[in-house]
Formats: sequence, C-alpha cells, structure tokens
Amino acid sequence: MKIGVIGGGAAGYFAAIHASGKGNAVTIFEKSPKLLSKVKVSGGGRCNVTHRPMEISKLVKNYPRGEKFLKKVFRHFKCEDTIEWFESRSVPLKTENDGRVFPCSDDSQSIINALQVEANKLGIQVKTSTGIKEIQLKGDSYLLISDRGEFLVDSLTIAGGGYPKVDGYAFMNKLKHQIISPIPSLFTFNTPQEPIKKLMGISMPNTQVKIEGTKLNYQGPLLITHWGVSGPAVLKLSAFGAQWLFDQKYQARAIINWNADFSEQKYFEHLTQYSKSHPNRKVSNYPLFEIPTRLWEYLCDKSEVDLDQTFNSLSKKQINKLVQNLFCHILNINGKTTFKEEFVTAGGISIDEVNPETLESKYHPNLYFAGEVLNIDGITGGFNFQAAWSTGYLAGKSSVKNTI
Ligand SMILES: Cc1cc2nc3c(=O)[nH]c(=O)nc-3n(C[C@H](O)[C@H](O)[C@H](O)COP(=O)(O)OP(=O)(O)OC[C@H]3O[C@@H](n4cnc5c(N)ncnc54)[C@H](O)[C@@H]3O)c2cc1C
Repeated sequence: MKIGVIGGGAAGYFAAIHASGKGNAVTIFEKSPKLLSKVKVSGGGRCNVTHRPMEISKLVKNYPRGEKFLKKVFRHFKCEDTIEWFESRSVPLKTENDGRVFPCSDDSQSIINALQVEANKLGIQVKTSTGIKEIQLKGDSYLLISDRGEFLVDSLTIAGGGYPKVDGYAFMNKLKHQIISPIPSLFTFNTPQEPIKKLMGISMPNTQVKIEGTKLNYQGPLLITHWGVSGPAVLKLSAFGAQWLFDQKYQARAIINWNADFSEQKYFEHLTQYSKSHPNRKVSNYPLFEIPTRLWEYLCDKSEVDLDQTFNSLSKKQINKLVQNLFCHILNINGKTTFKEEFVTAGGISIDEVNPETLESKYHPNLYFAGEVLNIDGITGGFNFQAAWSTGYLAGKSSVKNTI
C-alpha cells in the first residue's frame, strides 16, 4: 500500500512514522526545502514539546477549539505517551514549574533528530520542495499533483498545518471538506494610547484579566511590554476570545485586577486598616498587595494620590479610586502583536466532518487529517504540539489498520 503524507511538520512526521510497517511505502511530501521548520523555532528554539500529564478532562480545557473532539483523540495518545516516545528514543525531557515540557538539551534539534532518525529507520521517503497543488480523487485512491510530478497513493494524510488565509487550503478544494476561515490565535494586546507602557518589564504573577462586554475572564501572570500587555493571562484571553476580538477588529477594553488574591472588598478593607495601623507612613514608600514600587506609584498617580501623602491623610475618595485602579484597571486595547514564541491559527478543516476515533474523513475512505490543518488549536504551553503528536499518531495508526 502506498501511503502519502502532505506536510513535513510535527503532525506529518508522526503520521508517517506510525503508518509505517506491514510493507507499506510511506512518503512525506513537503513544499519547502526544509523539514520540521516550526519545531526548530518553537519555544524560542527550545521546543515546548508537550505539557505535564493531567487527566484528559482537564487537558482538553486548554483547547479553545476542538475540546470535545480531542477528548476522543487523547484516549489513544496523550501527554505521557509523548514523553515516553521521546525519552525512549534518547531524548530526556524536563518539566518546568509551570508544567511546560522541554528537552533537557534546551535545543529543539534534539526533537528533530529523534523524528528524523526514526523516519530513516523505517525507510520513510521524504520529498522536499514538493508542494502539492491539487488532490484528485481516483476511485478510492488519491492523485497528488505537484510541480515535481504526479503521485498516486492508496491512503493520504493531510498535515499541511495552518494557513493564514483561506486560499491556502485551495489544493484540497476537490475533497469538498468545509473550511472554517482562519483567524489568528495566541497574540498579545497593543495599548498604544496607554501610559502604562512606560512600566515595561514589570510582571505580576497572579492577575485577573477580563474583556468588557464579554464572559472572557482569565487569571494568571501578566507582563507589561513596550507595546502593551502580554503573559499567560493575556494569551489565554486571545485564544479563547480569538473570534470575538477578530470581529471587533482588536478594539476592546481590558479590565485588570492586579492581584487576583484580592477582591474589591478585600482591597478596601486592607487599605482602610493599613491607614489606621500605619497612619504616618508615606503611601508611595509602602506598596501594598505585593505590587512592585513602580506600578504602585503609577496606580497612586492615577488615583490622584500625592507621592508625599501619608496613609492617614488619604481621603475616602482617594481610597475608593485606588481600590478601583487596583481591582478594575481599564486598558484600551487597539491592535495585537504576534506572540513570537508560539503562534497558531484558529480555523481549518471542520472537525464535524472528521471521525475523532480515526481521524478519517467522513466523506472519503483512506483520507486522514492531522495537526493544525484541522480546526483545533490550543493555548500556549506545549498543547499545540501535543495535538499535533496525538492527531498524527492516530491518523498514522488508522491508515495501517486499513492495510490488508
Ligand atoms: C514561532 C512558533 C513557535 C511555536 N512554539 C510552540 C511550542 O513551543 N509548543 C507548542 O506546542 N506549539 C508551538 N507552536 C505551534 C506549533 O509549532 C504548531 O501547532 C505545530 O507545528 C503544528 O504542526 P503541523 O505539523 O500541524 O503543522 P506545521 O508544523 O505547520 O507543518 C506543516 C508542513 O506542511 C507543509 N505544507 C503545507 N502545505 C503543503 C502542501 N500543499 N504541500 C506540501 N507541503 C505542504 C508546510 O510547509 C509545513 O512544513 C509554535 C508555532 C510557532 C509559529
């Protein structure tokens, strides 16, 4: 049986590797001269290959699109399987405090080497600079048209990744699968009019960030940058709010609670109490609520608190304003910036038309999809590669099952 895989990325390699055996001839078709190029640059060159293992019901919560579908896929291959797969191929992995898993070498090349050694061992053919321009249905087989010739395969896995525009999917037009229009996910917020940018470099470990007028509301670290705000809380919002923010043309208002351990009432009580217990301390010299000095001074300034003022001289109005700025700090978002450590597209092949138990097309036998080409995407933290490994594994295994 001739098995074709379109795309020499993470999902394509995993699909090809797991489709090998039983005398199958497996070929990867890659349009660029380079293989596994996203793996190479991923995680700042370190490759955040997966996330610390957790229950599947929790794991799928990290996918704004594809949660239910992946519940079934992960039963076949999950984070612990990824760890086992690489470690058993001499790539020791380490888990960082936030749960992200990297090769101990801190070098994505270790992951690339493991995949390429395995592919070579299995005799997988790799055709680089061979972009597939069209897929034609020939009975139960598939004819792949490229500038480098035509290839007839009995089984095909499409693992071409995400495309920023819908035209990218045109080579699959004849398959008549529905394409959900691609939009960006995982980006940071620009706040060009906000003076807060002058505090760039400050990070807060546990903020709560909401988007006004929506239910979007996430907790986590936040980083002030020279263009706006970034960090896990913002990236999570950008992923779960990808469609809404796209529709609003990335114009919105973010509401920040700088320390999510405190409610509005708790802020108020603590400030009032502190004013009584330390009446003569200068407000600017004693940042409360674990707020860094520069941010505290900025918030005091916004609340019209004089730098020389003592706690006992704070008026009720000033305390209320300070509480407001601590609990409901409003930032006007105007635009977005690509998160260079990890960028994915939401959108792609509609998962309603793909069987989650096999990754096979519901329309065409022996046609499979894997990786970011599907309308599946995760938040930052290794979840996108995990989806690529799991869908690649299942697509590959399923194509072998159908081998007589
Ligand atoms: C800078 C960056 C850093 C990232 N870091 C991380 C990270 O640390 N952890 C994480 O989990 N995720 C990360 N991601 C996301 C992750 O890289 C992707 O989700 C993952 O690579 C998707 O794998 P894939 O195989 O589906 O697609 P891709 O890796 O995009 O591979 C698809 C391949 O198919 C080829 N192709 C496309 N169309 C055709 C065609 N018609 N014919 C032939 N070949 C074709 C492409 O050239 C490409 O090589 C990062 C992404 C970026 C951009």
